[in-house]
Amino acid sequence: MITFSVSALEKAPVRKSGILSEKFLDLAPDDSFAGNGEGSYDLTASLVSGGMLLSGRAAIPVKSSCGRCLKEVQISLSEADLHIFFELADGQETVEVDEELRAELLLNLPMNPLCDAGCRGLCPQCGCDLNEKQCRCEVSSAAGKVSPWSALDDLKL
Ligand SMILES: [Zn+2]
Ligand SMILES: [Zn+2]
Repeated sequence: MITFSVSALEKAPVRKSGILSEKFLDLAPDDSFAGNGEGSYDLTASLVSGGMLLSGRAAIPVKSSCGRCLKEVQISLSEADLHIFFELADGQETVEVDEELRAELLLNLPMNPLCDAGCRGLCPQCGCDLNEKQCRCEVSSAAGKVSPWSALDDLKL
């Protein structure tokens, strides 16, 4: 838990840095992303009119699978220059920043992660990885002889 004391901030801005545990993002097991090790943060809080401004940087690695070929993709959620404003209530003594920091990092999750922008994906018919080899399916489907769904008939589920 990353917290700042308002009374300390009244004297001067406070800088904190440290490790973000893999659990920091609080991802559910059925999320499309999983933790992939520790991250880090280096944040400075200062009082501004009406509240507290948190600035600095934070990064944490996650892993997912490529939307085309299903290979594991490693992604770093990082904010090199973040600015988060916290409204302060009268008499508030401490500010916890974890939740807002987590939300800010999660904004960096790509909607459709790819192992590579040029990933060629899997063949819809034979399932081979087209990045590694070229199958002959494309040719026959172009000729209209094989429906793209015929491979599903061959799958034994
Ligand atoms: Zn891929
Ligand atoms: Zn194929």
